[in-house]
Amino acid sequence: MHEIGVLTKAVDLVESVAKDNGLDHVGYITLEIGELTGYVPLFFEKYFPVVTEDRPIFNGTELRIQTVRGQALCRDCQSLYNVMKQEGRCPKCGSREKKILGGQQFLVKDIGY
Ligand SMILES: [Zn+2]
Repeated sequence: MHEIGVLTKAVDLVESVAKDNGLDHVGYITLEIGELTGYVPLFFEKYFPVVTEDRPIFNGTELRIQTVRGQALCRDCQSLYNVMKQEGRCPKCGSREKKILGGQQFLVKDIGY
């Protein structure tokens, strides 16, 4: 369950940004989660109330999650494909040589007040 650790860090970050800006409440947080991180979005939804329960600044804050597909570019035939769906192999030529283009990120994309 490493989701709780990264979620705590994200919440810490949002809290300090909000305080730096003199805000006493956060309306929503948007997390961007790449599917190649292995994080399960459901766990973030589950742990969010736990991580924020003693922090009034997050009272009623909505957690929004955007998942980003794991996209890769085949180095042998230049095909674009979905890494998860194709299990890391190019569907066109079968090569595993690839450049990952997205889906490895975990970040706080947006904060609303
Ligand atoms: Zn290929």
